[in-house]
Amino acid sequence: MTVHTESPPWVLSLQPYVPGKPIEELERELGIRGSIKLASNENPLGVSPLAAAAAHDAMARVHLYPDAATWRLRERLAAFADVPMARILTGNGSDELLHLLVRAFATNSHNAVMGEYGFIAYRVATGAAGLQQRAVPMPGFEHDLGAMARACDANTRLLLLANPNNPTGTWCGRAAVEALLRDTPEHVLIVLDEAYVEFADDPDYPNGLSLLGLRENLVVLRTFSKAYGMAGLRVGWAVVPEYVADRINRIRLPFNVNIPAQEAAIAALDDTDFVERTVALTRRGRAVVSAGLDALGLEYIAGQANFVLVRSPVGGPELYQRLLRQGVIVRPLQPYRMLDHVRISLGTDAENERMLGALGRVLRDVT
Ligand SMILES: *Cc1c(COP(=O)(O)O)cnc(C)c1O
Repeated sequence: MTVHTESPPWVLSLQPYVPGKPIEELERELGIRGSIKLASNENPLGVSPLAAAAAHDAMARVHLYPDAATWRLRERLAAFADVPMARILTGNGSDELLHLLVRAFATNSHNAVMGEYGFIAYRVATGAAGLQQRAVPMPGFEHDLGAMARACDANTRLLLLANPNNPTGTWCGRAAVEALLRDTPEHVLIVLDEAYVEFADDPDYPNGLSLLGLRENLVVLRTFSKAYGMAGLRVGWAVVPEYVADRINRIRLPFNVNIPAQEAAIAALDDTDFVERTVALTRRGRAVVSAGLDALGLEYIAGQANFVLVRSPVGGPELYQRLLRQGVIVRPLQPYRMLDHVRISLGTDAENERMLGALGRVLRDVT
């Protein structure tokens, strides 16, 4: 007879993360060729060639442990963000930094405030540590920052906000974010997740690095996974108050960013041309896809990130399945309980066109 070791109830209440469907899996299952994946907000241009070369060269040194302090990378990031190096943290993706922030500051007797359609990783990171989750309603899929500030109490340790948000694409303007930083109780650590900051082009979109002076307890979270095309290497970073860096350094694994990842990130920061090409392609794609969705009569939120949120006339999961059969992988949103929508990443010009064509065919089939 086997005896299972007990888990805390909050561990049992979690569901494993469901990633975007890999192309190979789809092609194996349906026997089709030439599929495209617009499901994980990955970079359609691939990885910066400078970053790839640096990672490749670094392979000659992987018999050594990485620099646990990620010194050269943090030096570069400190210059980039114009803050002292002691305020920079790096992690195995920004996802790891989220988990560390939760563990360094909260237990199951605390709560975290987030939007009801906030990024799913916030549910996982806080749920894994048993925090109570205060999911604040998002009318029209927009964060209500006033309500989020008011949802905080003495037991709130973290307030988690992605701007722009994934999966909704919605974003908050400067005045609203400034008010949030001012009105949220001082003891709450606000985590402003800017995974998509590079893609935003609205003049009212506030860059978190310009807000650091407004509040002590503010973390600005960034990633190399999107505009820098390094999702598979796993590098995230954050600007934090110095005492937060000290707390995280007590609990993190010492070698959380591997050698090729560190070298690739340093090189990627030099490859401004690659980021500019990525951003230009994405913004152009946003306009083209928006026009295409208008022409198809679909409701959508174009947002400020590298994806669009599309309302499906046949339900999200059904549209997802039908697009799969056309060789187009998008993201259904059951984990968010958004059953009427799919999230579609912006791709290359050819991928966007292919996706719009497939959507058109599906709509003809169902109406
Ligand atoms: C993609 C994404 C990230 C990045 O996660 P990594 O762990 O750095 O790959 C962070 N936040 C949001 C909202 C995202 O969509």
